[in-house]
Amino acid sequence: MPAAVEFEAVATPPRIPLNDLGRMSLEERSAIEAAALRVIASGWYVMGPEHDAFERELAEYVGVEHAVGLGNGTDALELGLGALGVGVGDHVLTVANAGAYATTAVRLLGATPVYAEVHPVDLLLSRATLEAALSRLAGEDILPKALVVTHLFGQVVEMAPILEIANARGIAVLEDCAQALGATGADGVKAGAYGDIATMSFYPTKNLGAIGDGGAIVTRDPDLAEVVRRRRQYGWVAKYRVGDERGRNSRLDELQAAVLRARLPLLDAHNARRREIHAAYEAVTDAMVTTVARPYIGHLAVGAWDERERVRETFAAAGIVTDVHYPVPDHLQAFPSPPETVRLPVTERAAERILSLPIFPGLRDDEVERVVAVLAEVSG
Ligand SMILES: *Cc1c(COP(=O)(O)O)cnc(C)c1O
Repeated sequence: MPAAVEFEAVATPPRIPLNDLGRMSLEERSAIEAAALRVIASGWYVMGPEHDAFERELAEYVGVEHAVGLGNGTDALELGLGALGVGVGDHVLTVANAGAYATTAVRLLGATPVYAEVHPVDLLLSRATLEAALSRLAGEDILPKALVVTHLFGQVVEMAPILEIANARGIAVLEDCAQALGATGADGVKAGAYGDIATMSFYPTKNLGAIGDGGAIVTRDPDLAEVVRRRRQYGWVAKYRVGDERGRNSRLDELQAAVLRARLPLLDAHNARRREIHAAYEAVTDAMVTTVARPYIGHLAVGAWDERERVRETFAAAGIVTDVHYPVPDHLQAFPSPPETVRLPVTERAAERILSLPIFPGLRDDEVERVVAVLAEVSG
């Protein structure tokens, strides 16, 4: 009799994705489907009633007077900075660890991006890193026209000292809220309600995601809102009348606006679930990038390890997908002319250590537990 072939059945655990946009509650799915059907039946697909209602609801949610729907978050940065008066020859100060979106927008305006370091713990702009950057630039006779403050990973930058420094020097402040819609600063103010103007992205993976591209600016200033309103639609001051030479086409379409209206009422609950997942990760490791004293809504769950690649492989072996946000700092990206010859040691070091773990509202408890188990293993 032949010897029985012995083998061990290895049950591969199902993969845990970094994000799965298709996972949503029945309630959310029905609301989105109803919104889409409503738009299709209406026969009105661009700049209609859903769009106008979403602008009002978004402004109210953030706690400012005006919101202007746009095609995406990068257009929002470009149009927002343009409305603040940024143009050819100007300098815009920002951080270099936020995915190069602001850098792209600044370059499209013919302006030059210049960079501040970030705080080593939360990887955000701080009073100290802002002051250091401004004095470095002052040595080169550069006074930035505007500052882009990025509320990275869903953490809110402590805005009071930033605004004080910027206001004293006449530097306009734009908040990039693409990763922080719904987050509130320690003083109770929503991200997006601090600066002169703020930008949003509704790219599907953002905390408030469309089923395609979308973006917006929000502001208290009616004049800034009006400039962006004109420029998003050919520079028209009235139908077919161009009154602003810096126009283009960047509109939030009716279908996306309707979907965003269906989802906005669920945003706080989704952010609460993200926070809960992040807290579970924080409970087993001190490797998570997080603000000690400041609020956090868990757009991304980012840890930092010296042996990042080894940690990444351990997660991969356990079937857990990870990613890096972002691997290349802006000042080291392959732009034709390097934005600035500056060394940013904290930013550069962080790019080698950070790793993003699964976090999204539909992540199940059993999946969170599996991530937690590996986190404990790599941190122990
Ligand atoms: C996603 C993102 C953007 C760009 O938004 P798009 O809609 O993809 O153009 C800008 N800034 C930050 C911080 C982002 O995360």
